[in-house]
Amino acid sequence: MENNITFTMIKPFAVETGNIGTILDVIIKHGFKIRAMKLTRMSKSQAEKFYAVHAERPFFADLVEFMSSGPIVAAILEKENAVNDYRELIGSTDPAKAAEGTIRKLYGVSVQKNAVHGSDSDENAQVESTFFFSTFERFLL
Ligand code: ATP
Ligand code: MG
Repeated sequence: MENNITFTMIKPFAVETGNIGTILDVIIKHGFKIRAMKLTRMSKSQAEKFYAVHAERPFFADLVEFMSSGPIVAAILEKENAVNDYRELIGSTDPAKAAEGTIRKLYGVSVQKNAVHGSDSDENAQVESTFFFSTFERFLL
């Protein structure tokens, strides 16, 4: 069960530029089931908490500023091998280095505005899902 879900966000720039629908379409066409979803906006302190692991990195303040700058779409996705398969579908952190056809290659414009977030482990998929969704908002089978 634990390796069947991942957590994603469509980041502010991708939301602002009208790419929610096209990105969700790519996700669904690659076999991921949406098990929870909301349009929401993180406060600065929520973004600081979500990205706490990067607190010491030089880009942390910019990252927090950007991720709290506007609405995001948060979602829980279900599929066998969800974390790894989704990381493959989104591509490298830097859209310029991402493989053809990946979400970041298609819709990312910079390392910061790289369209989407994807969990990096099953453990973080659970932590991040719980950060955004109550049990009543999840529709896992
Ligand atoms: P995400 O966690 O958003 O799925 P990732 O796992 O590919 O991305 P991380 O190393 O976890 O990459 O970094 C988190 C986010 O911080 C990246 O998506 C990116 O927006 C931003 N970031 C990472 N490295 C840099 C950098 N060198 N300069 C600016 N922003 C960066
Ligand atoms: Mg990451």
